[in-house]
Amino acid sequence: MVNIKIQFAKELKEKIRNVEPFSKIGQWSHAFFLDFRGSDDYKFIKLLLDLHTMEEGEGFELSYEELEKIADDLIEEELKKPDPNIEKSATILDETWLMCPDCIDAWESASKSAMVICPKCNQIFHNPRFQKDRSPNKNRPKC
Ligand SMILES: [Zn+2]
Repeated sequence: MVNIKIQFAKELKEKIRNVEPFSKIGQWSHAFFLDFRGSDDYKFIKLLLDLHTMEEGEGFELSYEELEKIADDLIEEELKKPDPNIEKSATILDETWLMCPDCIDAWESASKSAMVICPKCNQIFHNPRFQKDRSPNKNRPKC
């Protein structure tokens, strides 16, 4: 199961690394927009349109630093919420390391967010260190 926003952010970061021209990034964002416009995630749609206007040239361009921040924020935001479509969790190796259950790669992670990404295979897993709502169970309605 692919999270399209994380996918987008990762591709964007790759484009920044490759120093792709802004006009090309604008075109690419528009292709994403066409795929995504039926959704009700207006914030993401607006972001795609904002990036698309970079195609218009000077005056509409964001810096690579700004684009990098947009990508990082998008990933951080997405990883905050538990993804019910994902079943697997990363494995805790010790206080600072996590292991990917798929490719057995280990990485250093201090993240307390709900989800983590394996830096090697790019799969998303539940974060075993995620601290759910700490309030006592009696406050949680049972359905
Ligand atoms: Zn992996």
